[in-house]
Amino acid sequence: NKSAVQPAVEEFMAGVVGQSPGEVEFHQAVHEVAESVMPVVQANPAYREARVLERLAVPDMVIMFRVVWADDNGQVHVNRGYRVRMNNLVGPYKGGLRFHPSVNLGVLKFLAFEQIFKNSLTTLLLGGAKGGSDFDPKGRSDGEIMRFCQAFMTALFRYIGPDIDVPAGDIGVGGREIGYLFGQYRKLTGCFHGSLTGKSLNWGGSNLRPEATGYGAVYFAEEMLATRKEGIAGKTATVSGSGNVAQYTIQKLNALGAKALTLSDSNGTIVDPDGIDDEKLAWVMELKNVRRGRIQEYVEKFRKAEYLPGKRPWSVPCDLAFPSATQNEVEEDDARQLVANGCFCVSEGANMPSTPRAVDVFQEAGILYGPGKAANAGGVAVSGLEMNQNAGCMKRSREAVDEQLRGIMCSIHENCVTYGANADGVVDYVRGANIAAFVKIADAMLQQGY
Ligand code: GLU
Repeated sequence: NKSAVQPAVEEFMAGVVGQSPGEVEFHQAVHEVAESVMPVVQANPAYREARVLERLAVPDMVIMFRVVWADDNGQVHVNRGYRVRMNNLVGPYKGGLRFHPSVNLGVLKFLAFEQIFKNSLTTLLLGGAKGGSDFDPKGRSDGEIMRFCQAFMTALFRYIGPDIDVPAGDIGVGGREIGYLFGQYRKLTGCFHGSLTGKSLNWGGSNLRPEATGYGAVYFAEEMLATRKEGIAGKTATVSGSGNVAQYTIQKLNALGAKALTLSDSNGTIVDPDGIDDEKLAWVMELKNVRRGRIQEYVEKFRKAEYLPGKRPWSVPCDLAFPSATQNEVEEDDARQLVANGCFCVSEGANMPSTPRAVDVFQEAGILYGPGKAANAGGVAVSGLEMNQNAGCMKRSREAVDEQLRGIMCSIHENCVTYGANADGVVDYVRGANIAAFVKIADAMLQQGY
């Protein structure tokens, strides 16, 4: 019952906001978790006395640094770099790096906070962290990206390591960037360590890491649908974003017989009524990953598709929605439109893509809603498997990793059901994910002392 704990939640949040003024995304993420877990905290004196919730909302440590690099014309630029170490109670600090102009301390604290819960749900030994820079990679040459990554790692390398902190990719950081970051780490330390994940297959990467977040989000949707005796085959889906998560979400949807209708970027959305089949998807992958072009080009290549400038995909009727772009990309009106048009399952590939009001709309409508920290945990889960493989100096096959990924997504779903099933049998995946993760972290905190 949300209302019974509301005063305690508001009191707790007043403290959090007081300590971190202006960090609105961080407050949003903490508030959502506090609403779910406050009843558990109130029912458990040991949690209250140890101030478990208060401790979770303050990072272990924040590393902030200057990143100086020169563009192709020799002009010098100064960016901010960060690594937020949220906590390492159940494993080394783990989480991606985001390079995007919207990055600031509040955004990275929200992402690192979400990461604690997500990583705990994976069943692997992974703590929570996030990092990145306000650097804008858009339009930058390979050489510029390389020099930026080298400058970034020159500041960060002392603080990471296979059992300390293991960064990976996120928005603006893919295989190319991980390569440059790893190369610089190797040169500076003289060590070939698994200190980053998302590496290339030939030098320590795991099979299926690029695919993992997207595949995992579809596996999670499959599990949610199964609770209503439904499947993926024959369904229509809207997908936002056009990066790695969106691409492999569509690949898996196609493999399972669904029809993906949309892709988007910060300029607009493309809608393909015939579906983005594997052939079109291969073209998109070349466009985005090699030519680094805008998604609008899709409609010049595939004439039956339509371009919605400045729009997100949520006005397009669909059965399933996979928000896979960025935080707060689904607002209350978008959620209403999705539900009104018949969407009955939302599986989040991005981190916190739905605003709190949008989440309320989904939950009040009684549709299947899988929050990012559960639905998109496949990416970091395969990062965890990459760490295992590096530690054992071995590589597992695609099939073996896929089976592990599938198993992990199933167990996350089961955990959500265990902690989130209401009396009427409807599963509140938000509450389920938050409480399942929280109990594991809180118990670790108590057992390890303060
Ligand atoms: N950035 C991804 C996430 O949000 C992956 C992190 C990782 O692999 O460490 O979970």
